[in-house]
Amino acid sequence: MAGILIVAEHIRGELRDISTELIGAGAILKKATGDPLHVLLIGSDDAAFIDRLNREGVDEIIGVPVDSPHFDAALYEEAVCRIAEERQCRAVLVGHSVNGMAFGPAVAARLGSGFASDVFALAAEGGEIVATRSGYGAKVQVEVGFPEKGIVVLTIRGATFAAPEAAGSAEVTTAALDLAETEGVSSHLEYLEAPPADFDIAKSEFLCSIGRGIKDGDAVPRFKQLAERLGATLSCSRPVADSGWLSKPHQVGQSGKVAASCKLYLALGISGAVQHLFGMKHVETIIAVNTDPEAPIFKYAQYGACVDLFELADALEKQFN
Ligand SMILES: Cc1cc2nc3c(=O)[nH]c(=O)nc-3n(C[C@H](O)[C@H](O)[C@H](O)COP(=O)(O)OP(=O)(O)OC[C@H]3O[C@@H](n4cnc5c(N)ncnc54)[C@H](O)[C@@H]3O)c2cc1C
Repeated sequence: MAGILIVAEHIRGELRDISTELIGAGAILKKATGDPLHVLLIGSDDAAFIDRLNREGVDEIIGVPVDSPHFDAALYEEAVCRIAEERQCRAVLVGHSVNGMAFGPAVAARLGSGFASDVFALAAEGGEIVATRSGYGAKVQVEVGFPEKGIVVLTIRGATFAAPEAAGSAEVTTAALDLAETEGVSSHLEYLEAPPADFDIAKSEFLCSIGRGIKDGDAVPRFKQLAERLGATLSCSRPVADSGWLSKPHQVGQSGKVAASCKLYLALGISGAVQHLFGMKHVETIIAVNTDPEAPIFKYAQYGACVDLFELADALEKQFN
């Protein structure tokens, strides 16, 4: 097996940053194995995309024309499987994103390949790929090897690998695949816009952020009121938004918002997973409140209190009534 295949990601006419970050990840494998690096661009012949994908290390950019400009998981699965087999790839790298997760695992199942998701470090030792991901709720790092697997599919964490800066000299080719049987299996209906929020956590200087430690959505009104009394904007970690306790625009982190203007971040019952840290670890003053003294957030906090967040809320309510 030889060849590393990167699957570019685009949505609504925009090439996503993960596409060039995948090239950075692929370049690590190319350096270790000497395999050629192919970039697959499905459903767009946008010259600007090709320009941006033509980075140092890329050997070939393969365009696959399809009728619809919208993402279609079944089409991606089919096209990636065919090109990976045709180019005899040893690795297929896709974004650990909503789109990537919609076809990456299916490609792995069809090819009978090795698979690891949310990979944030890569190496190839003696030609064998080793992928690093986290395990046990982000408490440990796990190095995954794929013995006896001729091909490996990896979904790669965003904002982790640096995209090569220099322009490349890739050959640009077109693979006219007959996808008639797959086309139309699903169809794009519409994009649903999130309702506009009357606040922007990215602009707030003081965020009071709640995590899964609050245990129940019924506790949210209490923390809304507390945030108001403190003069803070209420924000949250992803489980709080995913549970529907607060709306998505409140979420801080990799798949939420970056606390770009924040100077004071009060984290109540938040463990400090890397994806959450992505949105707040730069903040000047972080105060972490957590009953677990080993919680990773304490490593980034200037002030920490290993206490029950509800007891702290009682005390703050008395102080700021
Ligand atoms: C692709 C991807 C993108 C992601 N994007 C984001 C993102 O944008 N933002 C984000 O936040 N997460 C994101 N995540 C999820 C992330 O990995 C973590 O699962 C999440 O951040 C954990 O949220 P948490 O800290 O609230 O919950 P947990 O990790 O469950 O932590 C809860 C904490 O509360 C503490 N606690 C419990 N009870 C109390 C109490 N009474 N008093 C004080 N402390 C208490 C516990 O000790 C624990 O540390 C993403 C994951 C993936 C795979």
